[in-house]
Amino acid sequence: MKLEQYEHPKPPDADERRKVRPVICYPVDSLVQPDLPSYRAARTGWEKLSETIVPPREASCFDVPAGCFFRIASIEGPQVGDLNLWALHDLHERFYSGKTRALHGTHLSTGDRLWSSLPYLRPMATITEDTLDWYGFDEWGGSVHDVIGTRCDPYTHRLLAGDDYHHCCHSNLTRALADRLDKPRESVEAAVHDVLNVFMCTGFTRDTGQYFMKASPVRPGDFLEFFAEIDLLGALSACPGGDCSSEHSSDAASCHPLLVEVYKPAEPPRGWTSPPRSGYDRSHGP
Ligand SMILES: [Zn+2]
Repeated sequence: MKLEQYEHPKPPDADERRKVRPVICYPVDSLVQPDLPSYRAARTGWEKLSETIVPPREASCFDVPAGCFFRIASIEGPQVGDLNLWALHDLHERFYSGKTRALHGTHLSTGDRLWSSLPYLRPMATITEDTLDWYGFDEWGGSVHDVIGTRCDPYTHRLLAGDDYHHCCHSNLTRALADRLDKPRESVEAAVHDVLNVFMCTGFTRDTGQYFMKASPVRPGDFLEFFAEIDLLGALSACPGGDCSSEHSSDAASCHPLLVEVYKPAEPPRGWTSPPRSGYDRSHGP
């Protein structure tokens, strides 16, 4: 929260200091860019491996082998989804929303990659199509598919509202992962992590810098499509906020299911190989 009146007076050179041009923290010119035409060509003749319906205010898990595609689609009405990704054979390697944000910006779209946590740091998935790419940034600074939020959770809800709600995305993801792994909820809860907010429309207010949400522009038929760079275990929660136009962490919003489809191409994309883990030697110096 910003103070109504700043505590400290402006120095004489305040305007000059403010005028310093920003520098991009992580220029990505050196990154190997995904070969989108080759990825997209691999969709011709692909075969559907699975379909998963994520019920409203619940989450479901799905597997995606390396070299396959998955699509998250809106089917019955506007709905936001909270996505977690793990390396199928090692849940320590998981989606790292913070570093993905540092590399690609606050909101993701076609050509951006979902990076894994340290010490792995490799692309887990590449976005190959986004039917909401037309949205861009609106007059409020809002855009879709953010990596600036976290996931709604019962701990923050209790902190702010004082009561308990059990269908926040964090809880939905925890239950889904526990069921998928056949393990107790408390033993898998720590594997649940900050999400890609699929279809959610968010930004930061310009005056106070607060995280905001507004009604998602998603409509049935819209989808976000990914290519799995490594073997993945995914979990998607159909957020209790619905289209996130008013509130989450309650049963107030109108909620809809989401569809996850997994497709296997006849041939992997030309020239594609599954990326290795980071080559850093982990010595951290002498
Ligand atoms: Zn949520």
